[in-house]
Amino acid sequence: MSFSISLPDGSKKDFESALSVADLAKSIASSLAKAAVAGKVDGEIKPLDFVLDQDCEVAIITDKDAEGLAVLRDSAAFVFEAVAHKHFAGLRFGTSSAQDDGFYVDTDKDETQISVSELPELEKAMGKAIKAGQAIEHVQLAKSELAEIFKDDPFKLDLLKQEADPVDAYKLGDFVDFGFKALVANTGKIKHFKLLSVAGAYWQGKSSNPMLQRIFGTAFFKEKDLEADLKRRAEIKERDHRTIGRDLDLFFVDPKVGAGLPYWMPKGATIRRVIERYIIDKEVGDGYQHVYTPVLMNLDAYKTSGHWQHYRDDMFPPMDMGDGEMLELRPMNCPSHIQIYKHHIRSYRELPIRIAELGMMHRYEKSGALSGLQRVREMTLNDGHTFVALDQVQEEFAKILKLIMDVYKDFDITDYYFRLSYRDPKNTDKYFANDEMWERSQSMLKGAMDDLGLDYVEAEGEAAFYGPKLDIQTKTALGNDETMSTIQLDFMLPERFGLTYVGEDGQEHRPVMIHRGIVGTMERFIAYLTEIYKGAFPTWLAPEQVNIIPVNLDAHGDYAKKVKEELVKQGFRAEVDFRNEKLGYKIREAQTQKVPYTLVLGDDEMKSGQVNVRKYGQENSEAMPFGQFLVELTDDVKSYSRE
Ligand code: ATP
Ligand code: ZN
Repeated sequence: MSFSISLPDGSKKDFESALSVADLAKSIASSLAKAAVAGKVDGEIKPLDFVLDQDCEVAIITDKDAEGLAVLRDSAAFVFEAVAHKHFAGLRFGTSSAQDDGFYVDTDKDETQISVSELPELEKAMGKAIKAGQAIEHVQLAKSELAEIFKDDPFKLDLLKQEADPVDAYKLGDFVDFGFKALVANTGKIKHFKLLSVAGAYWQGKSSNPMLQRIFGTAFFKEKDLEADLKRRAEIKERDHRTIGRDLDLFFVDPKVGAGLPYWMPKGATIRRVIERYIIDKEVGDGYQHVYTPVLMNLDAYKTSGHWQHYRDDMFPPMDMGDGEMLELRPMNCPSHIQIYKHHIRSYRELPIRIAELGMMHRYEKSGALSGLQRVREMTLNDGHTFVALDQVQEEFAKILKLIMDVYKDFDITDYYFRLSYRDPKNTDKYFANDEMWERSQSMLKGAMDDLGLDYVEAEGEAAFYGPKLDIQTKTALGNDETMSTIQLDFMLPERFGLTYVGEDGQEHRPVMIHRGIVGTMERFIAYLTEIYKGAFPTWLAPEQVNIIPVNLDAHGDYAKKVKEELVKQGFRAEVDFRNEKLGYKIREAQTQKVPYTLVLGDDEMKSGQVNVRKYGQENSEAMPFGQFLVELTDDVKSYSRE
């Protein structure tokens, strides 16, 4: 017997007899053997005891490789299973897998599922198994043998069907599992790990299947990598709008009453109302006419617009009214604003005509993509359509961009970039077919950006189906890019709906339509703001601006009430904390709720008509006359619009 093994550096080694991946590593260098966790044999990950006995290409996978980390995490998942199996008699398992971000194990129990409060105990038991340095044995078992072992676990039996006979399996003590490509040979390798969280997950991702309990964890070779990762997770959690939304009672989404359909609690609704008023005022000041149009529309309008042909996957199914009428929940507001434009004969003198609305729309987003307020199925877009003559496009584009930048300044949004989104030239079916129109509008958009001297990236395949767009991209706490604002050029819909205006020459002309969203949807925008402010909304947006705490409810309650009434009369949002709790507790609570100002009112304040003011995030408080506080508060609220 003689065969040769090719190594990643291009060299070849000849062997006379079979050897394991571990032996191969040893024959190269003892340090490599020590760092080795698996082998990649002809492109496939194999365990260290995998036998090499013919010509092949082998790379030794070590703790430095991403694949090595995946092996470590699979091993951690396996040790978790072994421990949990011992802990909960009759526990069933679904899939277990390493991920870029850690690992997970799907579990199922007869009564209550594993809860997050049980993780520390399980983690301790894992720690013990790891410290003991137990062997993880790689074995080959007959399918029938595994079927017997997992006879009470329908999920594993299902997974077993996909395996070839015999099956590669792993043993830790008397616990057995299969489905892993390679595991480390000893639990001692998995020193640095952590169990993180639990969440429901449908078996095989299908909502008609049973819901399993998914346990998330992570593992690293180095302690400092684990620490850095846990720190990153804590930061994300601190900024995640879903966590803050729950802690500050801003909104909730409950799949039982509708996945992706948010409920705005009073505090979240207050933030939204302030933003809605702000944006309407800003737009009216910029020449927009605000309208209201229905969320339901005859399906024919979406056939004319092309939404039905190009956007149907994202739309809710039409409602058949039984008398031939088909109604559709709108996924966009464009056809609605077109009706407003068409309702009168338009003259060139009126152009640009700017129609705006806080338009509610429905989009059937995939359930896996839904995320808090950030991606929902019912949303309200700060939408607007401006109708212009061809020679006004550039100027109007610049005007809209200026409005967007003004608004960003008011909200202190600084981390964004511009993206020109073109159609995908290799997949033109998704878009309106008119090459000349695409060439023309894409180069107009690019020209406008170049004239303004702005930097941008170009992305093919991100255009709307009716035209190219400028997207303004921001980052979420989880690190994903999301479109916030958008300006889109459209030569198509005016054509499709036969829009016209009467020109100076008395003839009918075709307007160009510009679709634009300034803050995007209320949902995504408020999710974003929650994350950048970490829930500490600036005073003008804070749902509760002033929290008033009487030192003694009986003695100072009336004074507190009077101060509140005066604040409310002046248009501020203030509450008195009348709960029967300790003063220190109430002050801390106001900080946790991130209220910009806390007023503590006791004897001294009552006698002198003063208030004791503590600003959010500050240790010290300051006594001042109530009148002075009013002036400070007024200035603070106004400050957002400082130029
Ligand atoms: P995405 O690529 O994020 O799905 P899109 O390109 O389809 O968005 P547009 O049709 O341009 O989005 O919608 C306008 C705005 O609506 C976007 O800029 C974004 O702010 C917002 N938006 C789109 N889909 C959602 C959603 N499912 N939930 C919340 N906001 C959304
Ligand atoms: Zn539109």
